[in-house]
Amino acid sequence: MEPQALQIIETQPDDTILLNEEALRNILTQDEIRDRYVAVISITGAFRGGKSFLLNFLLRYLKIKYLEKRNVTDWLTPEDGPLKGFSWAAGSKRHTSGIMMWPQVFLTTLPTEEKVAIFLLDTQGSFDNQTTMDDCAKIFALSTLISSVQIYNVMRTIRQYDLTHIQCFGGFGNLLTKGESAPFQNFTFLVRDWACPYEHPYGDIGGAAMLEQIFSSKNPEIQEQVINIKSLFNETNCFLMPYPGRTVDASNTFNGSLDDIDESFLDSVSDFVTLLLSPENLVLKTVNGVKLKAEDFMCYITEYCNILKDGDLPKMETIFKATIEAHHKAALMQALKIYKKNMDVDVKYSPRSSNETELFKKHTTNKIKTIDYYTKIKKMGDPHIFDKYLIRLKNEVETEHKRYRVLNDERKRKLEETKKRMEEAQRMA
Ligand code: GDP
Ligand code: MG
Repeated sequence: MEPQALQIIETQPDDTILLNEEALRNILTQDEIRDRYVAVISITGAFRGGKSFLLNFLLRYLKIKYLEKRNVTDWLTPEDGPLKGFSWAAGSKRHTSGIMMWPQVFLTTLPTEEKVAIFLLDTQGSFDNQTTMDDCAKIFALSTLISSVQIYNVMRTIRQYDLTHIQCFGGFGNLLTKGESAPFQNFTFLVRDWACPYEHPYGDIGGAAMLEQIFSSKNPEIQEQVINIKSLFNETNCFLMPYPGRTVDASNTFNGSLDDIDESFLDSVSDFVTLLLSPENLVLKTVNGVKLKAEDFMCYITEYCNILKDGDLPKMETIFKATIEAHHKAALMQALKIYKKNMDVDVKYSPRSSNETELFKKHTTNKIKTIDYYTKIKKMGDPHIFDKYLIRLKNEVETEHKRYRVLNDERKRKLEETKKRMEEAQRMA
């Protein structure tokens, strides 16, 4: 059966949001994924802007490169069949609103040897009149918080309305990083159906010129919004995309065949996808400069969903607190993993069992290593939270220690039994 996009976050009719935690955990904690860094590409913007349609080009590139392991110099040929993946729709009815994730994860190694898992996120229901303002702000906030690249999809041009939308994050940047660096990574305006290539050419060069024009606006309100965007994102880009043709735009029988799409659109898509997805351009997800692994990523999503779960959009302080909590929780998990890994080597996989003193020594050495790892994490927020998780870590290490003692006793017993049996066998012989 063809894989289908998985709804990981859903907005409910009563304005609350629901996280499909189990499905997400099943993906993120798979053995070959949990320890990888993550690159998370999200697309957001008004309904019926061709977001899902565009994501399917990203999906096609990733599938050919990482699942079929083919050369991606020529990845946009009609012979590979029509576009598919995230469902895109003609007509004006929208599907459920929330955040969808592609269930297939693409694994790659960067030129820096870092192992990475690539995730694609689609958002639905934002910015249209059926969704309340609160809902769209939430989906926008959530998808920006959890992605390393946020593509902001707009039709024809960037309007002041779009800049206003991004302002819902105002103040968060300063809170999170105390002005050291921007809290978010890459923000890319993707302008669809760009109609003035003689003014600014298609692609990233025309896009940069367009951004420059907006950034140098003399309108004080826009100036303020630009300062806000610049303080929020490490990098702001823009890409101008041509019209895809009448069939994509207006035919209700269009099935995704590449033959029906204008060539200039395909050329631009190819440039866009390469800029975004070739390994040297991939942006790894970081929070306050720390690279997240898939397992940590799970922590962050859960924390953010918790605070956005109900009622009004939370204050920036609340988002900040959730970030700090997730940061420490993820560090605790990694630290505990180090303890278990070392104890496994020393106890579980050791050829002989240890006596009480030896075991205690091993435990102490590994506990020190673990605490050392935790104390070296980047300091963030209130020191009380650091201490809170340090205490929790020490407790969990002690619980694990007990488990290893039981394990060690069991091994000792088994080894003695085997020894006895062998001695008996020797006596009989
Ligand atoms: P979404 O709601 O933003 O995810 O939009 P969809 O991807 O579902 O696309 C909505 C409709 O727009 C579909 O009928 C697509 O064929 C069409 N479409 C896709 N890309 C473009 C584009 O770049 N320009 C235009 N005019 N239509 C597009
Ligand atoms: Mg869609």
